[in-house]
Amino acid sequence: MKAKKQETAATMKDVALKAKVSTATVSRALMNPDKVSQATRNRVEKAALEVGYHPYNLPSANTSDSYTNPYGAQMGPCNFCGFCSGYACYMYSKASPNVNILPALRQEKRFELRTNANVLKVNLTDDKSRATGVTYVDGQGREMEQPADLVIIGAFQFHNVHLMLLSGIGKPYNPETGEGVVGRNFAYQNMTTIKAIFDKDTYTNPFIGAGGNGVGVDDFNADNFDHGAAGFVGGSPFWVNQAGTKPISGFPVPPGTPAWGSKWKAAVADTYTHHLSMDAHGAHQSYRQNYLDLDPNYKNVFGQPLLRMTFDWQENDIKMAQFMFDKMAPIAKAMKPKYILGSPKNANSHFDTTTYQTTHMNGGAVMGEDPKTSAVNRYLQSWDVHNVFVIGASAFPQGLGYNPTGTVAALAYWSAKAIREQYLKNPGPLVQA
Ligand SMILES: Cc1cc2nc3c(=O)[nH]c(=O)nc-3n(C[C@H](O)[C@H](O)[C@H](O)COP(=O)(O)OP(=O)(O)OC[C@H]3O[C@@H](n4cnc5c(N)ncnc54)[C@H](O)[C@@H]3O)c2cc1C
Ligand code: SF4
Repeated sequence: MKAKKQETAATMKDVALKAKVSTATVSRALMNPDKVSQATRNRVEKAALEVGYHPYNLPSANTSDSYTNPYGAQMGPCNFCGFCSGYACYMYSKASPNVNILPALRQEKRFELRTNANVLKVNLTDDKSRATGVTYVDGQGREMEQPADLVIIGAFQFHNVHLMLLSGIGKPYNPETGEGVVGRNFAYQNMTTIKAIFDKDTYTNPFIGAGGNGVGVDDFNADNFDHGAAGFVGGSPFWVNQAGTKPISGFPVPPGTPAWGSKWKAAVADTYTHHLSMDAHGAHQSYRQNYLDLDPNYKNVFGQPLLRMTFDWQENDIKMAQFMFDKMAPIAKAMKPKYILGSPKNANSHFDTTTYQTTHMNGGAVMGEDPKTSAVNRYLQSWDVHNVFVIGASAFPQGLGYNPTGTVAALAYWSAKAIREQYLKNPGPLVQA
């Protein structure tokens, strides 16, 4: 009896101890998830080559193995859990400031992280030429004031603009006169999606995968193609990215399926492991009529005006979305699915908050050479309040043909270098307008 129990009770931990590797490595080896996802990758790659495109493996900031970065922060091997987009990584395999930088910062005696603090505004001197610190509400709901010689606003694109408007840093944009800079040049990202559903003998296994696990095509992005006959500016990469299909939002069903009830459930059960999604996340231009300002009616829990977004698609965006759809469709057809779902924007398409449209917003406090048309200079320093730097995609004058975070990080390093090497030695405007 005893021997039998020992035989059946071996766990992944036992195997890991025996093999002198981590349980994650055992799990990975047993499940061989990269092999599973490889099938989808190969299918897409083959179809893209067939239609004459130049596919490449998507880059990502996931680690395939244990890694210690130059700051001494450790990362574990990704196990393709399928919960990459929209979730924290329990394997520490996804590069982000909390994994890669905070552990090193915490060693610094002068560093203090105050969690659950909500900054309400940056405080300014009476003449609004310098910041004196910030007012925030702490985790216990107490309003606190933190004095500072230097304030860096790095609260995400929307919140950067909101904090600038609430604090009175820079002139708010007026769409009627075209004057003012804070809230100006708001741009989004122009997304187009095609979903393909295959027969039951073709498995895509969307429950497994990782952030950059897929194939991309960049033949129709930026200057990679001749726009002459296209009738629009911009462009987009497109890809099949098996990052893990989220519950509910990611369940495509065949045309004619009811949107709820037992028939919908049966269709989901039928198609879930046999579908894939192809996305274009493209460039988006900024327009005079798309902007951000303080809402005249609605307030947040602290009694402050909410940030208001005034936005709609324009002719260039619609033409580009249609073009990208036409370029993606041949790949979907070449994979010979049972159904192809999706349609491009049409002339009557309007922005719809209920339809997913990426999380990549840009502009509103853009960098530039002229304080009349930009909120911050090339070092992301406010033109008006020299000891405030504003870091994030708020600095992008237009929406790029690529996702934003690489450029956000590059600009953060660029700005930090200027602060350390120039500003701290001689505080004042780093660029004379
Ligand atoms: C689901 C999802 C998937 C994404 N996938 C991709 C992708 O594949 N590729 C890509 O390039 N980008 C992607 N992005 C976008 C990417 O996350 C952002 O571009 C990036 O995080 C921006 O960095 P940031 O430092 O400007 O802002 P954030 O990373 O948002 O950091 C801002 C911080 O400020 C804090 N904060 C905000 N307001 C206040 C306040 N008033 N007081 C105190 N603290 C405040 C926030 O809590 C947050 O911690 C994705 C975003 C989401 C949501
Ligand atoms: S798929 Fe993403 S979330 Fe899951 S282990 Fe890998 S990096 Fe982490």
